[in-house]
Amino acid sequence: SSEEDAAKAAAAVADTGAPTIFDKIIAKEIPSSIVYEDEKVLAFRDISPQAPVHVLVIPKVRDGLTELGKAEEKHSEILGQLLYAAKVVAEKEGILDGFRIVINSGPSACQSVYHLHLHVLGGRQMKWPPG
Ligand code: C5P
Repeated sequence: SSEEDAAKAAAAVADTGAPTIFDKIIAKEIPSSIVYEDEKVLAFRDISPQAPVHVLVIPKVRDGLTELGKAEEKHSEILGQLLYAAKVVAEKEGILDGFRIVINSGPSACQSVYHLHLHVLGGRQMKWPPG
């Protein structure tokens, strides 16, 4: 199926530590629809939304956080800030009645961009378990 093909394509991408497209979004070299921004965090609409609300929350400085599976204790503060920013985004988007945070970490989880990001998804009934 096309879903399986997409999963395989994403799984073929591995973390190289190279700059990602998100650096250009942070630098505003390519446009994005920004939902929330502060000194440390940027939140913008996913280009391929999987729900009526689909926002990505990212650290402005990657600092080795290519994926959650590579987090170290020094990252705990920014990880907390990202999670709190996700709640602020959910509030701004009017989905506090129900929303989901997803972090894909590594090829088997179909991570495709190796700059840590939280997906904030909502605006529809979410299903469980996720795929
Ligand atoms: O978790 P994963 O790494 O697969 O998520 C990457 C996300 O980044 C995808 O949902 C994709 O649609 C999004 N993306 C984007 N803008 C880009 C490139 C990717 O919103 N220019």
